[in-house]
This record gives sequence, C-alpha cells and structure tokens, in this order.
Amino acid sequence: MDEPIIYAGSTAVDASVPEELPLVFLIEGDPALRSDVSTQIHYSGYRVLAFEKIESALEECRRKVPAVMVVDLSQPEGDMAMVLAEIQMLNEHSIPIIFLSDRGDIETRVRAVRFGGNAYFEKPADAGALIRAIDNTVHKKEIELYRILIVQQETETAARYAEILNSAGMMTEILTDPMRLFFSLQDFRPDLILMNLYYPDCLGMEIAAVVRQEEANQSIPIIYLTEETQMQRILPALNKGGDDFLPLPVTPDRLISSVAARVDRSRILRSLLVRDSLTGLLNHTAVREQLDDLVQRAKRKNETFSFGMVDIDKFKRVNDEYGHPVGDRVIQSLARTIRQRIRRVDAAGRYGGEEFAVIFDGLDTDAAVRALDRIRRAFSQIRHHSDKGDFFSTFSSGVVSFPDFQTGTELNDAADRALYAAKRSGGNCVARIDRKK
Ligand code: GH3
Ligand code: MG
Ligand code: MG
Repeated sequence: MDEPIIYAGSTAVDASVPEELPLVFLIEGDPALRSDVSTQIHYSGYRVLAFEKIESALEECRRKVPAVMVVDLSQPEGDMAMVLAEIQMLNEHSIPIIFLSDRGDIETRVRAVRFGGNAYFEKPADAGALIRAIDNTVHKKEIELYRILIVQQETETAARYAEILNSAGMMTEILTDPMRLFFSLQDFRPDLILMNLYYPDCLGMEIAAVVRQEEANQSIPIIYLTEETQMQRILPALNKGGDDFLPLPVTPDRLISSVAARVDRSRILRSLLVRDSLTGLLNHTAVREQLDDLVQRAKRKNETFSFGMVDIDKFKRVNDEYGHPVGDRVIQSLARTIRQRIRRVDAAGRYGGEEFAVIFDGLDTDAAVRALDRIRRAFSQIRHHSDKGDFFSTFSSGVVSFPDFQTGTELNDAADRALYAAKRSGGNCVARIDRKK
C-alpha cells in the first residue's frame, strides 16, 4: 500500500490573527432578548451592534453599513416604515432585513414582506435557524451564478439570448447540436434549459424526455421559447417534462425574469434535497454524486481534481465539555470557514457528524494540500465561545486525487486512509496518499 505523507503536522494553535467579521445590527426593544440574541449572533462569528430603537440604528447606519439587520417588528408602527425606508436610501444596495416578532399571524407577516424582510421569525427565534438565515443573507453574494443552457441551432438567435442573460449576470452555454446534450448536462451542470419546440431532426419534447430519463435531471427546469400560438401544440411539450413556455418574440426583461424566477424556485427545492440543514453544505449523497460526475468528466477530458476529507479533532470532548449546542456551532463555523476559502468551482459537503468533504476542481494533490492547509490554519485560529469559557478547535485532513485513484469509491477510501494517518500522527495536519508511479 502507498504510504501516506503527513504534510503539515503542527499542534500549535496560532490565535494572533483575528478574522474580519461581518457586521450585524440588532434592533430589539426587550433588554433581555437583546443581550441574549446578540450573544448568539456574536458567538456564530459576527460583530454585533445592538440597539433598543430603530432610530439609533439609523444614526449608526450613516457611519457603518451592516451586512444584515435583525429587527424586532414590535416597534411603533408608523416610525418603522419611515426609518427603514430612510436606512435603505443611504446606500446603493439595500441591506437585507430579518424580522423577529411576537406574532405569527398573516397580517404581521405581510407587513414584514412590505418592509422588505428577507426572513421572519416568531419569538423566541430558534438560534440555529436565525444564524442560518443570517449566514444565507450575508453569503448571498457568493452564491453561484445561474447557469443557463440554450439548446438552439440558429447561432445568431442563440447568441442574442445568451447576451440578454449574460447582461443579467447569468452564465450561458449554447448547444447547437442536441445530440451532444449529455456532455453539456455533465460538464456545464445547467440550472435551467431553454429549448425550442421544433428542431430539424427532432422535437423539443423528445429532448426534454431524454433529459428526464436520468434521475439526476428531474429537477432541472425546462422552458420552451416558441412562436407557436396553438395551445394544443404546446401542451404536449409541457406534459413531456417541460415546465413552461415563453411566446416569441420575448422582451429581454420577460426572458430574464422568467428564467430567474424558475431558477430561484428550483434551487430552493433542490437545496432541500441536496443540502445539509445544519451547515447548508452539500449532504453525503450529493457529494458522492458530484464525485462520480467529476470522475466521468475528468476521464473524458484528461483532467485532474482532488478530493479531501476533513474531520474535527477530539470533537467528542467539545460536546462533553461545552455541550451539544456549542458543538453544533463549531461544526457551523468550520462549514463557514471552508465555504469562504474554496473557489466557486469547488464543492464542499458535510459527510456526516463532524466530518466534511471537499472537491477541488482542476487541482492536483499539491495544490489541494495547500488549500486545505490554509483552511486548517484559518479554522485553528477561530475562537469559539461558551458559558464555560473560550476554546479553539482543529481538524485533520486526508487528500488524494484523480487520476491517482480512478473511481469515486477509490478516491473516497484512499482519502479516508490518509485522514486516518493524519489522526494517528497527532491531528491538526493534512496527509496525502499518492499512487506510486
Ligand atoms: P478524533 O480526533 O479521532 O476525530 O476524535 P473525535 O472525538 O472527533 O471522534 P469521534 O468519532 O469519537 O466522535 C465524534 C463525535 O461527534 C461524536 C458525536 O457525538 C459528535 N457529533 C456527531 N454529529 C454531531 C452533531 O451534529 N452535532 C454535535 N454537537 N456533535 C456531533
Ligand atoms: Mg473527529
Ligand atoms: Mg469522525
């Protein structure tokens, strides 16, 4: 068996470089809740400024721009609307708002929506859910661009659609030969497919049916662009796996908003299937699926990529000493550290309990080891808080790559062995296994 190499063995924890934390404004009238909720948010890796009244927050907003505001909705009715409007006018981009309220009725919830609320929690808000909402709004900017596949044989028409969607910040790929559809699905991984009803060699609905033959493609929305006005010609296409149609000619605004709305909904639904609820990272099944997909692509294109497994050191002790909720926060902060330090093309998942997996697209073992070691150092510097005092945590990691290991299972098992070697050498380090040449 190939010997694992322990790359960065170090049990020293360097806490000298504090992280720049995102700023959260909390507006809460109740002093006890104000203090309690601030502490929770602060413990999860944010700087918090807490205010009793929304007016004081407005004053502070003239000096600092928070990444998100958490606002108690039981503030005086009229002032709230006015002050929020004033706050939002201070900046070019509006600040996301999460509302807390004593009430769960529809009228109050509608009010929150009118005030531009991104999320709504009835008090007392579940701390985990509130932090997730904060995480989601703060990291929204980092959300992947929408990927739209345009199946269109007329290149000029295709280029026009692409240009419109690109102008709205979406990524596009044009597929002129429908027969190469599977390669596009695998390589480009579209969020949505734009199709015609008719192609020279086949029907749009036939292509849609082929897309749907694969289980993994069930949730990709398909929109037809068509000059057809006869509903009886359109309906069969919608029955065969299409989701919607847009009549041509279509205005740029209509095309952009229809596509964006569909992608938004399907990403939310898909994330319930593929995301882990504590961390928002991919779940075990989704990581394994991506790993298998990437193996296929890398083989076909002669590419390399790396797979790393990460496991928090002596985590049982954290739970035993500080309690399970504190342990959960450590897991969340590792998830956040990983997410912030990988590139868009990479993928991170929670593999189980306190174990994570990262796929580094295009990176060989050397580069992946360096990347994971940077994550290792960053995580080891994060101060975790608890009632029983502050503490630091570390992880160990095992890294391997394709084509050293040739299948998802081989990569997985080899990374696991490397991880085990890292643990055995004392933890807080990155180990690798290379196939002997
Ligand atoms: P090692 O350094 O060898 O990895 O030791 P360890 O204590 O981290 O490993 P072990 O596998 O013995 O323990 C993992 C612990 O993680 C046990 C389990 O209670 C805890 N755990 C698993 N999932 C969760 C979770 O979602 N939240 C919390 N708080 N703890 C969890
Ligand atoms: Mg562990
Ligand atoms: Mg473990």
